Amino acid sequence: TRFAPSPTGFLHIGGVRTALYNELVARQSDGDFILRIEDTDQTRFVEGATEDICVSLKRIGILPNEGVWIDDDGKIFERGLYGPYTQSKRTEKHRAYAQQLVEMRRAYYCFCSSERLDDLRKTQTLAHIPTMYDGACRTLSAEDIQSKLASGEKYVIRLKLPREGTIQMQDAILGEIKFDWSLIDDQIIIKSDGFATYHLAAMCDDHDMEITHVIRANEWVASTPKHIFIYESFGWELPIFAHLPLLLNPDHSKLSKRQGDVAAHEYIDKGYMPEALINFLSLLGFNPTGDRELYSHEELISLFDLTKVNKAGAVFNAEKLHWMNEQYIRILPIEKYIALTREFIVTEEKDEIFIQRCLIGVRDRISLPSQVVELVQPFLQQDIEYSQVSIAWKKQTLDEARNRLIALREIIVGLQDMGVSELEAYIKNSISEKKWVVGETLWPLRVALSGEEKSSSPFELLWILGKERSLKRIDSAIDFLKG
Ligand code: GLU
Repeated sequence: TRFAPSPTGFLHIGGVRTALYNELVARQSDGDFILRIEDTDQTRFVEGATEDICVSLKRIGILPNEGVWIDDDGKIFERGLYGPYTQSKRTEKHRAYAQQLVEMRRAYYCFCSSERLDDLRKTQTLAHIPTMYDGACRTLSAEDIQSKLASGEKYVIRLKLPREGTIQMQDAILGEIKFDWSLIDDQIIIKSDGFATYHLAAMCDDHDMEITHVIRANEWVASTPKHIFIYESFGWELPIFAHLPLLLNPDHSKLSKRQGDVAAHEYIDKGYMPEALINFLSLLGFNPTGDRELYSHEELISLFDLTKVNKAGAVFNAEKLHWMNEQYIRILPIEKYIALTREFIVTEEKDEIFIQRCLIGVRDRISLPSQVVELVQPFLQQDIEYSQVSIAWKKQTLDEARNRLIALREIIVGLQDMGVSELEAYIKNSISEKKWVVGETLWPLRVALSGEEKSSSPFELLWILGKERSLKRIDSAIDFLKG
């Protein structure tokens, strides 16, 4: 299989799904997955686009084993036996194929000027008939063609498609589709700048690179008859064509920038994890079992089934991606989680163990690594403002709350460093020994440690803050209650 983006801008998140489906199909059958850069439209070339495509795929972990790639220093290179994989470097091959098609009378030179074509389009639009080339040059004599070429007239080469009848094609996803030849334009395959258009270049390259499955965006369905025409003209065996369902905004319009991010790198930069992106994108149009939502890349490789991809458009539900990211953050090994989130914390605090405990303490509350900033802040702050929430529980008086904190202080002073559940057991045990009311003990303790109406449990807070910081906060609360 191959993913064949044009370097006309950043890699679109929809392109990542196309790349992924190609990768899954190749991997599950021990095939090769090629990255080919289709840069024959020189007017649309964007500096840095190839780098963005390669880097984004690399960061997500969709790795071609053949084709264009980028090394760790950001240098583009090619590897594999079927190169070059940068399409503009294959122009000679494309021109030779075009020449063969002309000789086989499956393509022809067209010398029509752009003025003539503009006029034609206007007339057809006014007459409400489909705008397409009228075939004026289909019947030029060999002598005419020779003399025009000899005098250096500008030309393009067009496919000489059937004018009537139908063509039926088989799509692995869409099933059988029928097209009327009369509605299909004589496609330009070599432009006046000498470069091949997508239609010729991609088909010839796919054949030369021994691509067995052409898995691509839906927008290419309507062009497939032309592609089959090229394959059949050369007598090549057809690949399996599979056109992927459109990606839609929640309002079912085509996925666009206006309703959220579409650049793959934006998702990666925001902290969506490769595992979550791969999981999420693979389910945009495919559902392996129906009762599960979380799948690893390896599982997807074995479960993916191209013939079970949905025909209908898939809604890009950003909340679902968010949720998945949350799930993957929760199961990350602790060191990886710390590495992922630590860089967001800018603080003068020197105690790394404390900072790490803060991060661990908020892990279950984040869906993006950057969210730790806000959540960790209350732990890092020096002074707490106690006036916002009552430290006393329900009918407990302020004096009672203060006394309870003084008693708790004694218990905490004697504590060893221990884990959250041990802390919980220890404190709860003291509560029952002393026959205290739970709410009247844990509420003042929690508010003393956090200053907030809602926060982590008092045991987690004790663990995160450690003994000294906890005692300092309890002392401030006792002080506050004196007042
Ligand atoms: N260069 C084409 C594009 O970016 C590739 C389509 C294909 O996969 O064949 O849309």
